[in-house]
Amino acid sequence: MAVSKDPHPINNIYYLNMSIPDLIPLEDPVLKQKAELVTDIASPGMQQFIDELMEACTHYEGVGIAAPQVGKSIRLFIMASGPNLRYPDAPKMEMEAVINPQIKTMSEENIIDYEGCLSVPGYRGQVNRAESIEVEYVNRNGVNVSATFEGFIARIFQHEYDHLEGIIYPMRMEENAELITIDDYHKLVEGSLRDQEE
Ligand SMILES: [Zn+2]
Repeated sequence: MAVSKDPHPINNIYYLNMSIPDLIPLEDPVLKQKAELVTDIASPGMQQFIDELMEACTHYEGVGIAAPQVGKSIRLFIMASGPNLRYPDAPKMEMEAVINPQIKTMSEENIIDYEGCLSVPGYRGQVNRAESIEVEYVNRNGVNVSATFEGFIARIFQHEYDHLEGIIYPMRMEENAELITIDDYHKLVEGSLRDQEE
């Protein structure tokens, strides 16, 4: 999908070449593949792809997006938690490119909560995830990062990491759990907020 965008005042060519990659359909086998390590972080092509994936994350109102979701089977995802139309209560963080990630430890404590996925449009489902995780990854500048994430951010990381392993969240749902539509999800959330107030 080509995007018309005001040319950047300093680097017109860069922005004129920028496009937002399309999401591949759920049935595409790339979404079920284990992705390959990224070996060329510093290359202009990879840096441009990271920019495009970040644009895609904002454009599709994601709180994260993984390279396989746009058909590129490499170990790279974007985390971009912040309130948007799809996740109005998401905590705010700086957008980050996560490359060749590893999950070092997972807390014994788990949380079951609803999550959605740009590759499964229109639905939410309950998934059990570790409450906190210790991770290592490389950022887009080639710097090794160690971090601990909790709650919603830890959930995003685990969800996006799964994409690199070829796992889509419905594969993690309990057998008796159901996918619900986003409309029903919002009714549920509003209902539980009302219950708390009453
Ligand atoms: Zn997803």
